[in-house]
Amino acid sequence: MKLFTASLMTETNTFAAVPTSLADFTRGMSRGGVPETDLSLAAVQMLTWRRMAESRGWRTVESICAETGPSGITVRSGYETLRGWILEDLQRALPVDAVLLALHGAMVADGYPDCEGDVIERVRQAVGPRVPIGVEIDPHCSLTRRMVEHATVICCYKEFPHTDIAPVAEDVFRLTGDALEGKTKPVMSVYDCRLISSYFTTLEPMKSFVAKTRSLEGKGRVLSVSTAHGFAYGDVPEIGTKMLVITDDDRAVGDALAGDLGRELIALRGRTHPRYVTTQEALAQAARTTGGPVVLADVADNPGGGFPGDNTRMLRELLEAGVQDAAFACIWDPMAVGIARAAGEGARLTMRVGGKSEPLSDMPLDLAVEVVALRQNVTQPFSGATISLGDTAVLRCGGMEIIVNTRRTQTFHPDAFTGAGVDPLAKRILALKSTNHFRAAFEPIAGAIFHVGPPDVRTRMPYRHIQRPIWPLDPDLHG
Ligand SMILES: [Zn+2]
Repeated sequence: MKLFTASLMTETNTFAAVPTSLADFTRGMSRGGVPETDLSLAAVQMLTWRRMAESRGWRTVESICAETGPSGITVRSGYETLRGWILEDLQRALPVDAVLLALHGAMVADGYPDCEGDVIERVRQAVGPRVPIGVEIDPHCSLTRRMVEHATVICCYKEFPHTDIAPVAEDVFRLTGDALEGKTKPVMSVYDCRLISSYFTTLEPMKSFVAKTRSLEGKGRVLSVSTAHGFAYGDVPEIGTKMLVITDDDRAVGDALAGDLGRELIALRGRTHPRYVTTQEALAQAARTTGGPVVLADVADNPGGGFPGDNTRMLRELLEAGVQDAAFACIWDPMAVGIARAAGEGARLTMRVGGKSEPLSDMPLDLAVEVVALRQNVTQPFSGATISLGDTAVLRCGGMEIIVNTRRTQTFHPDAFTGAGVDPLAKRILALKSTNHFRAAFEPIAGAIFHVGPPDVRTRMPYRHIQRPIWPLDPDLHG
């Protein structure tokens, strides 16, 4: 058997001002064979598929392994180039017995509101109707009819934080392989919940909901159950939460189960994420907390959702509150890192920090700081991958140590602090930029966690393209 595999992953925040370029993808990209040393999330999937293929004595032909962090709309020519490389490699590899694609599900390019549907459809045209196409996507996707129509199998990671990317890659391989060998005939059923929301799967009630979906897999004719959470910051027609059930050739069972689970999610609406608080509320509650450091997550400026990562609002509020024994990871500010490096460790200077990259960044802060640590290529682990923060500088300002960095990323792990030269366990307050992924590694050390942000950003996004009605924009939709 010959499998063709490829990866093209980014999450597009259509409201972000900075576009995603071809160079963002090609930095670190491989084509024609993923190096074992590639530690990206895309590589986690392609290397899993290679190992599983080898164990069955099957061959893989690997096209591009391309991934970049969430950001604004991808430049049209950049997307067309990447897509062209996948299709060229596929043409050269034909005939193939199956195709496996690691995509995101919320990628938007200029002129392409549904990049994944476009890629899958073109792959389908190339391989014909009978070759199985298995696809792994992020639950923060806009699952479209086009994707479902042209793929054979689509599975989303079940967990948010996404700690199960490799196991779901194994599921995609197994389901696609079984279809290839004629053991099953996968049929996908989708139920559109008409919701825009966020689903934290390490917290109830979603923890139990995910456990339930997992327990249904492999029972009767149900092969796979995915919750497509949706992505609130992608202004595309088919936005929103959907249930996706794959059965072995039983559409009636799949449709019924997707509907039942979808209605269960609708009933849980508004209760699937923690309450968002202000910085002041979080600090007031933190003062009454004992135990490990208190974590304040800046949910509104999460680079992991495509936001700039240099918004200064929470940092300013913490400084104004006069916090002590506090550290902040990170403010994305390559210029500040450069100035700090030129000044050197121990230097005291007034520096303009953050608030530079786009309108969502708020205003820069002019701070009197001391440069206390400089580090190069700081990394943090996440879901089997290694994520770079780039070079860092730690700037002390009053009771706060602010980490500025050169590579835009959310904060996944305490290593972001440690690697920059800050001991997270020695701090009373740890501020960071992330919505939920940080919880996987910070829950074990945190005395308390607060999600700081506006009450519900989803009702305030200036959507232009989404289909209505949808909750919570149409609050009475579900009664
Ligand atoms: Zn995601």
